[in-house]
Amino acid sequence: MPQSLSQALLINHLIGGEAAQTASGRTGPVWNPATGQQIAEVNFASVEDVDHTVAVAKAAFPAWRATSLSRRAEIMFKFRGLIDENRDRLAEVISTENGKTLADARGELARGLENVEFACGIPALLKGSYSEQSSTGVDVYQLRQPLGVVAGITPFNFPAMVPLWMLTNALACGNTFVLKPSEKVPSASLLLADLAHQAGLPNGVLNVVQGDRVAVDRLLAHPDVKAVSFVGSTPIARYIYETATRNGKRVQALGGAKNHMLVLPDADVEAAADAAISAGYGAAGQRCMAISVIVAVGAVADPLVAAIRKRIPKIKIGPGLEAGSEMGPLVTREQRDRVAGILASAESEGATLAVDGRDEAAASREGFFLGASLVDNAAPGMRCYDEEIFGPVLTVVRAKTYAEGLKLINENPYGNGTAIFTQNGGAARQFQFDVEAGMVGINVPIPVPVSYYSFGGWKSSLFGDLHMYGPEGIQFYTRSKVVTSRWPDPGTSKVDLGFPQVR
Ligand code: NAD
Repeated sequence: MPQSLSQALLINHLIGGEAAQTASGRTGPVWNPATGQQIAEVNFASVEDVDHTVAVAKAAFPAWRATSLSRRAEIMFKFRGLIDENRDRLAEVISTENGKTLADARGELARGLENVEFACGIPALLKGSYSEQSSTGVDVYQLRQPLGVVAGITPFNFPAMVPLWMLTNALACGNTFVLKPSEKVPSASLLLADLAHQAGLPNGVLNVVQGDRVAVDRLLAHPDVKAVSFVGSTPIARYIYETATRNGKRVQALGGAKNHMLVLPDADVEAAADAAISAGYGAAGQRCMAISVIVAVGAVADPLVAAIRKRIPKIKIGPGLEAGSEMGPLVTREQRDRVAGILASAESEGATLAVDGRDEAAASREGFFLGASLVDNAAPGMRCYDEEIFGPVLTVVRAKTYAEGLKLINENPYGNGTAIFTQNGGAARQFQFDVEAGMVGINVPIPVPVSYYSFGGWKSSLFGDLHMYGPEGIQFYTRSKVVTSRWPDPGTSKVDLGFPQVR
């Protein structure tokens, strides 16, 4: 990857298996967050570019849909092998554009690969059901068929994993796909699409259009786009859901999060502190499943805050590509400055800035770095509690009882992930029963479901009915058809104008 604009790249779309430039003449900058340098320009699709891409995907649909399940599974197997062989290359591209460490980029690839593995089982996943003799001589059966052209719109924070959440199942089900990756991290999607083509995917079945709101709005309005999968922030998720459903599309739009970790007085303090550090500062807090708020119940608060404080100086902050770095920069300068602003407001609103990451940031680095911060004594009504921060900040709220902590979580507008730390099985079970969130960890701080379950939050963390990937992903990318069939003995045929009966 070039490090300076003098060597800048122009990143293209991939339409019908070929690199394509935009007709719009509009481009956007791509940054290396670790150096603070612009490293490329990315083409921004025009309405015409999107129309052309959707037309290509539509033309590819009949043949792809007719492709046997065994062949689709075979392509997925090959795709899995190629991603596996290219892990280093993919991880480097992810780290360069997103800023996360190489180890973290490899981690997201591993979780993305799980989704390819799931899609390899597509022949079994698409099995329908069959009822013989529903009426005399009549059989009833259900099929699942693909929708047509479907679109995926993805965020910056998982440049490979989130596209893989969507496109693996969509393609395996027989749909053709238009992917609009985040303009901040455009390259990983192109690499994945290239590998899919090497695996044998026919041209036009998977297309990548780069761009911004212009491309998104056209996808939301285009009559030939049958469904939209979105992952990103809550205001945009809501907009995508409202706009695309108004246009008659099936939509799953996953939004932002404010994940709470409830730590009961009986929890193992050292283990809880390790988990909080890993889940709060991994990827510099830029994971939708990152722990953002620690709800410390009763007497656990002081020792827990002390244990977290003790660990923070040991976190190795540095460029993602540098060996040994544990936490990279934030994705953009604006985001770094926004998080710094939230830290300033925390102090002025009465919280305690137990560790201030702005000191580290100011130190020496050129990129968009911010050190890990710990805000204690936070409360609803403060910006650091109310907003999704999406940076390396852990916020501690002190609660007197389990009930008080639970109320806080359930009253939060987000409901993506949550976790409880305790040694009491009964308390954990009660939490699982009570809590209003889509993904729950019991002594597991980042409970991202494995690929054969489905991923999704509640409340403002998901708009739509079906969660992403896994069994619900298969449901989302197919529609069901029920056939009632009679192959009578010709000798029994007669006219009967009564309503069909089954008994
Ligand atoms: P974002 O909402 O800014 O962007 C997501 C996508 O929407 C991008 O492709 C972007 O180009 C497009 N977009 C942005 N503004 C738009 C507009 N006005 N109109 C139409 N399209 C627009 O999100 P981001 O900053 O890339 O990602 C971070 C956010 O994503 C966080 O809020 C995080 O919690 C969330 N996220 C959620 C999950 C989840 O599973 N719930 C997973 C990852 C990230």
